[in-house]
Amino acid sequence: MPLNIMTLSRVDMPVSQAEGLKILERDQYCCRYCGLDGRASFENALVMSVDFVVPRARKGKKDPANLVACCRPCNTIKGTRVYKSLEDAKKYVLDRREEMRRTWEANRVPAATRAASAHAVSSAN
Ligand SMILES: [Zn+2]
Repeated sequence: MPLNIMTLSRVDMPVSQAEGLKILERDQYCCRYCGLDGRASFENALVMSVDFVVPRARKGKKDPANLVACCRPCNTIKGTRVYKSLEDAKKYVLDRREEMRRTWEANRVPAATRAASAHAVSSAN
């Protein structure tokens, strides 16, 4: 899917570039769920998006009051459920992230393994 180079958002986003930028600026380019700073790095900027607090699928309006800056991982975790409030949604997303972190930490491949193989590749050159 093509990316808009100015907003780094998907071109087919349901909000216009101008609308999306206004929301990102209002929220200082930080995810309203996890706090990820979209200005901290290019990688962070790539994952920033605008979220419908009440999803469009549930008749959520394209209104600034229903739109927040959001990173794509939080957007995916939040899904299309309906929450009582933004705070309620935030709690759900952060709890899920914490659960996922624990699972990841329990199953992670130690970084040293990757570093060692990367080193082996570079010394072969
Ligand atoms: Zn986030």
